[in-house]
Amino acid sequence: MQCILCHSDKTTIQEYVRRDDLIALYQRSFGIDIHTLLPSDLLYMHCQECDIKFFVCENGVIPTGDDAFYNALNLLPWYYFDEKHEYHYVKKFINPESKVLEVGCGKAAFADFLPHKEQYVGLEFSTKAKEMAAKRGITIQNVPVEQYCTQHGGEFDVSCSFQVLEHVSDPYEFLRAQIVCLKSMRGGGNTEKSIATYHRCA
Ligand SMILES: [Zn+2]
Repeated sequence: MQCILCHSDKTTIQEYVRRDDLIALYQRSFGIDIHTLLPSDLLYMHCQECDIKFFVCENGVIPTGDDAFYNALNLLPWYYFDEKHEYHYVKKFINPESKVLEVGCGKAAFADFLPHKEQYVGLEFSTKAKEMAAKRGITIQNVPVEQYCTQHGGEFDVSCSFQVLEHVSDPYEFLRAQIVCLKSMRGGGNTEKSIATYHRCA
């Protein structure tokens, strides 16, 4: 199994997780049916090269949530926070002219920390989150960043995500797509180098 971040082959299985156990736990704890999201039992993997740990189905598929899953989570009052401590840290890097992209924005609570909501675009799979944000005058698009970056390369001063990477099946492509959206990458910056830098800082 290749590492989902650094693409190394030096991965080992840490643990087996039964599909039926996870389905029962989600049903009992949240009343959410996840059987369509998990095609098989899961392996918990560790990459010896970059030290990331990740889950993968036995058939090689990385399980991720779909619109129905996140809409169901959206109904839990605690799932989308109004505030995360990282918001206060990141807003220091944003000035009134900054055009900001937030990927995996939930209900776009971070937009309320910015000088201008008009300069903000959030990407999020939940269609309900998009509807809720629109009522506050905030733009959310239900598009994956890997698709969004093909039309919006070099448009943003800042791209950010908060507590999202653990939901992503292909973190390498996820980071690459965010980097492509940055103005600083206009004219062909080195995305490989930027991802390596990000990984060292994370
Ligand atoms: Zn790795």
